[in-house]
Amino acid sequence: MEISSATTPRHGAHLRRSDIPAALPAARRASGAGAVLGAVLDHGPVARSTVARLTGLSPAAVSGHCGVLMGRGLLRESRETTGRRGLGRPHVPVEVDADRYLVAGAHIAVTHTTLSLVDLRGRIVAEERRPHEDIAPGPVLDGLAARLPRLVTAHAQGRTVLALGAATGHWVDPAAGVVVRHPQLGWRDVAVRSVLADATGLPVHVDSHARALARAEQLLGQRATRSSAVLLFVGNVVDAAFVTAGAVHQGPRSAAGRVAHLPVGAADGGSASCTCRVRGCLASEVSEAALVRQAAAAGLPVPSFPALLERALAGEPVARELFLRRARLVGRAAAVLLDMIDPATLVVVEPGAGRLPECLAALRSEVAERSWVCDDPERRVVPSSFTGSVLATAGPAVALGALYDDPLGPWPALPAVS
Ligand SMILES: [Zn+2]
Repeated sequence: MEISSATTPRHGAHLRRSDIPAALPAARRASGAGAVLGAVLDHGPVARSTVARLTGLSPAAVSGHCGVLMGRGLLRESRETTGRRGLGRPHVPVEVDADRYLVAGAHIAVTHTTLSLVDLRGRIVAEERRPHEDIAPGPVLDGLAARLPRLVTAHAQGRTVLALGAATGHWVDPAAGVVVRHPQLGWRDVAVRSVLADATGLPVHVDSHARALARAEQLLGQRATRSSAVLLFVGNVVDAAFVTAGAVHQGPRSAAGRVAHLPVGAADGGSASCTCRVRGCLASEVSEAALVRQAAAAGLPVPSFPALLERALAGEPVARELFLRRARLVGRAAAVLLDMIDPATLVVVEPGAGRLPECLAALRSEVAERSWVCDDPERRVVPSSFTGSVLATAGPAVALGALYDDPLGPWPALPAVS
């Protein structure tokens, strides 16, 4: 059977101009530029020749991408030079320009919102937390939009905000820019992107906080998360994100990651009933609200979860035991996720595991006991890279992820790509 195609010249036929593909189709050019920007973020200041080796792109392509990215103000030549002076042209390394642009972030938690600014290397420039006065979407989103200009005026120091990233728990559809369902806030089909874009005039990117933190690990955190990872978020909301083949998995309706009701079968009878009607599901045992309830039942009434965490950090035995129990139950869920996905790394976003070494040890030993595939939890099960700044990182990571994915895209604050 003869295979022919309008775009593939037959053997020996004269090659026509229309047969030659464009040098760099837009999508390839964008992903090449993103790869260059990501490599410079990782290794900068770095020579262009090293970027070519790191990305597998040709030196000429890297040079071209660097030129375009410098034209957009995303990269700059470093003041350092490499190579011996006086011997030919010195290599002038390139680095991400952190002095021109910022991205803003808004994280919407069950009890409060966090507004933050980060530079293009992910360093937090400003962070502001506010308890909710009213959890309806209108007041929450209007409040965030109203506070942002003040935060920018106080902290941007002449840098321009490129975009706003917004993150929250439960079911978020990034393509639609919609919070599909957040039962604890009572939100359903809230058009967060369009509301915040109208109110701030910024490009807005929206995603679930678990996926945002997985992207933050890939970009700014643990390198082992680049290819495959599971991120397990344990707060008032309990959910997960999955990185496979280098990409954060979303699912056809972006609903992936709902692990809150995994049965972890706590045998010690502390379980409260849950909306899922499974006694001893993960969220009913380990959510922040569950821990506050468990503390009261154990004779340690506390006004809030942060107060309980402070007690545990201060060595209060009842509080510590509650966090150890939480770590063991999170370890059970982690073992199930490790067996299902077999990721290179499982990142646990939970302040006990992040700040109390014995909690991380208890979590890992539960994994070692229960997982069929993970026999090296010391290496594969790690706490978040952003312990202490998780919520200030999640929002901006949504916008930074979009920028690093497509630095040649339509970013209105950046000069046009020539
Ligand atoms: Zn449940």
